Amino acid sequence: MRTVPTRRSPTSTAASAAAKAALAHAEPTPFWLDQDGRPEPRPSLSSDATADLVIVGGGFTGLWAAIQAKEDDPSRDVVLLESGRVADGASGRNGGFVSASLTHGLANGVRHFPDEVHRLHQLGLDNHAGLLASLDRYGIDAQVERTGELTFATAPWQVAELAMGLSLHLRFGERAELLDAESARQAVHSPTYHGALWAHDGVALVDPARLAWGLLAAAASLGVRVQSPLFPPLLLTSRTLPISTPRSAPLTMSYTVRAATDAAVIASISTPV
Ligand SMILES: Cc1cc2nc3c(=O)[nH]c(=O)nc-3n(C[C@H](O)[C@H](O)[C@H](O)COP(=O)(O)OP(=O)(O)OC[C@H]3O[C@@H](n4cnc5c(N)ncnc54)[C@H](O)[C@@H]3O)c2cc1C
Repeated sequence: MRTVPTRRSPTSTAASAAAKAALAHAEPTPFWLDQDGRPEPRPSLSSDATADLVIVGGGFTGLWAAIQAKEDDPSRDVVLLESGRVADGASGRNGGFVSASLTHGLANGVRHFPDEVHRLHQLGLDNHAGLLASLDRYGIDAQVERTGELTFATAPWQVAELAMGLSLHLRFGERAELLDAESARQAVHSPTYHGALWAHDGVALVDPARLAWGLLAAAASLGVRVQSPLFPPLLLTSRTLPISTPRSAPLTMSYTVRAATDAAVIASISTPV
C-alpha cells in the first residue's frame, strides 16, 4: 500500500482560518445554561447514606419524579444523585418545545398504534397538564408560552395534507384551524409557505434551563436531597437494574446502582445491602 501525501490547498487553508476566526468568540456553554442562576454542582453524598428512594439523574425526569415522590408521601426520604450540574444533560440543551404528544404527532400515533392511540393521546395530555400545573404550584417561572404548534405547507400539494391533519385533531377533540397562505405568511413572514395548520392545544414553549432549575428549587423545598454521587458515573451495562424490595424497606445506598448516561434512570428502590 502506498501512502499518498496530502497537501492543503491555499483555498482550504483560508477557509479553515476563516472558520476559526468565526468561532473565536463562540461560547462552548449551551445557550440555555449560559445565563444567571445556574446552580452549582451539588455536594457529594457520603458512602453510607440511607434513603427510601434514590433517583439517578438531575434532568426533567429525575427532578419531576422526585417532586411527585414527595407529594405522594412527604415522609418519604428521597435522594437525587446528579453527577454534574442539574440540567447539564439533554434537559439543558433542547429546543424548549413541550409537546403533549407521546407519538410524535397524532398521524404517527394513528399509523403505528391504532389500538392504543386514544390512551396514549390522553396520557400525553395528562402529563402535559400535570407538568404545567406543577410549575404553577411551585411558582416556577420557566417563561412558558402556550403557543400551540404551526405546521406549514412548503408545496401546494401539502395543503391537502394539512386539511387531513385538521380533521384528525378535531376528531381527537383538539382545537385547530387552517391558515391560508396569506395568514401563514403573516405568522412567520415567510414568502415560501402555502398554508398552515395551527393546532392550539398541547404544545408550549419554555426556557428549559429555568424549568429544570425551578424544579430543583421545588424539590429542595420539599426536602429532596440533591447530591452528587461519590464516584464518577457508572455506565449502564444492562437495562435491568437491581430493583426489588418492599417499598417500605429502608435502603442502604451502595454504589452498585448503575445509571444510564443518556437518560435519567430512576433507580428507585434497591435491595437493602
Ligand atoms: C438537541 C436536543 C433537542 C431536543 N429538543 C427537544 C424539544 O424541543 N422538546 C422535547 O420535549 N424534548 C427535546 N429533546 C429531548 C429532551 O431534552 C430529553 O428527552 C429530556 O431532557 C430528557 O430528560 P432526562 O431527565 O430524562 O435526561 P437528562 O436531562 O439527560 O438528565 C440525565 C442526567 O443524569 C445525569 N447522570 C447520568 N448518569 C449519571 C450517574 N451515573 N450518576 C449521576 N448522575 C448521572 C446526567 O448528568 C444528566 O444531568 C431534545 C434533546 C436534544 C439532545
